[in-house]
Amino acid sequence: MAQRNREVLALDKDEVVYPFVQEFAAWHNLEYGTNLKLSDFNTYEFDSVIGVDVPETVHRVHSFLHNHRHDMVSPIEQASEAIDRLSNRFEIHLVTARHPDFRQTTEEYLREYFGDTFQSVTLVGHAATMDVLRTKAEVCYELGAVALVDDSPRHVSGCAELGIGGVLFGQYPWNQLSCHDEVHPDVVHCRNWNEVLAYFDV
Ligand SMILES: [Mg+2]
Repeated sequence: MAQRNREVLALDKDEVVYPFVQEFAAWHNLEYGTNLKLSDFNTYEFDSVIGVDVPETVHRVHSFLHNHRHDMVSPIEQASEAIDRLSNRFEIHLVTARHPDFRQTTEEYLREYFGDTFQSVTLVGHAATMDVLRTKAEVCYELGAVALVDDSPRHVSGCAELGIGGVLFGQYPWNQLSCHDEVHPDVVHCRNWNEVLAYFDV
């Protein structure tokens, strides 16, 4: 459409648009009688946070994605206003590590809270569930994205290695830069959506 002349900006979903850990922890506490808090997630490898093996972790995450009332969950603070402003300048695309089976759930949520702002949704999945795993950096490269906004140091570093802007989003236990020596030096850390807007000068 007539938007090809706009630069492409890729956004992650979980913890950037949707508060996954907060919702998953509350759901898990009810289902399994645990007392998980956001501060327990000092890694995004949930198996080591929950204390079960990877297949059981995948089963629980997928049960949550299947059964939770996502439509009742407000997006991350300021995400709606910020993405709306960004969409005036950028073509916005979603790149998530959710399994491709959750395309419908993912798209329904975006439509409900963001209308038709997202031009495409790519679900790459996770190493534990995919025979062939495309990295988010590869997807961003194919999209021609100028940057990826993502809470994962690994994904934004992967982008930076390809010369794509890596914007590390949020202040979460699992993404404090002091804990990640391997973070690419070109990665920029924005603690919230206001800082993302300031970084892109919109
Ligand atoms: Mg994320």
